[in-house]
Amino acid sequence: MTYALQTRNLVKKFGGFVAINDVTLNVAAGARHALIGPNGAGKTTLINLLTGFLEPTSGSVILRGDDVTGRSQNQRVKRGLARTFQINRLFADMTVLESVTLAVCERRGIGARFWRPVGAHGEAIDDAAGLMAQLRLLDVAHEQTKDLAYGKQRLIEIALALAAQPRVLLLDEPAAGVPTGESRELFESIAQLPRDITIVLIEHDMDLVFRFADRISVLVSGALLTEDVPAVIAVDPRVKEVYLGEASHA
Ligand code: ADP
Ligand code: MG
Repeated sequence: MTYALQTRNLVKKFGGFVAINDVTLNVAAGARHALIGPNGAGKTTLINLLTGFLEPTSGSVILRGDDVTGRSQNQRVKRGLARTFQINRLFADMTVLESVTLAVCERRGIGARFWRPVGAHGEAIDDAAGLMAQLRLLDVAHEQTKDLAYGKQRLIEIALALAAQPRVLLLDEPAAGVPTGESRELFESIAQLPRDITIVLIEHDMDLVFRFADRISVLVSGALLTEDVPAVIAVDPRVKEVYLGEASHA
């Protein structure tokens, strides 16, 4: 088995609070691997440890066979790791095509010259158009990102992440705040991404998780409760209990 992303005995403490407790995770190359668990379980913290945004208290992160625990976020991006961009911050006044082209230019190392006419970057535009076709964004190519429906904006965030040509894509609740009707379409587009990109997904909507994932890890209070194929997770009484507990305390 080839693994795209692994952790070994990962621990993250915030002061005396153990947010991630001895997590050993193996994400197979090509997997659609979902990470689920109640609010506060540590899912986002784990993603932040994977990207290098946070440093672990102990344990290691292995990306495509290399120990990257001491590596910066940028170095991990160069090794093929990507997470979704916060688009609203950066590209609100640009069109979809301009935004995605800019991200492609950055990967090609020509970002600093982007003030040149867009026509000077023919290959970058071709790449951008390819990404937009993959995510079914071509029909909104010339609209400003801020005018788009929220579901489309999240797809652009994914296009921007894909511009770096990642091998592993981390999606932390890509459908958060997206209306139900749009989230299904969003997930259909994500599901169509090529299998040479491994995807790790955090998602609250269990219907979406079970439709999308081929492997599910369940995180509770910072520790892994279990990991298996969706059909097994769906009938695991411990998993049900965790979610019933969350619902009754809501
Ligand atoms: P999830 O994404 O599963 O909802 P988080 O990873 O955001 O959970 O948070 C896990 C726990 O760690 C929560 O109790 C949260 O309050 C705590 N936590 C997260 N980040 C910090 C931080 N920077 N400092 C202190 N506590 C934190
Ligand atoms: Mg979270």
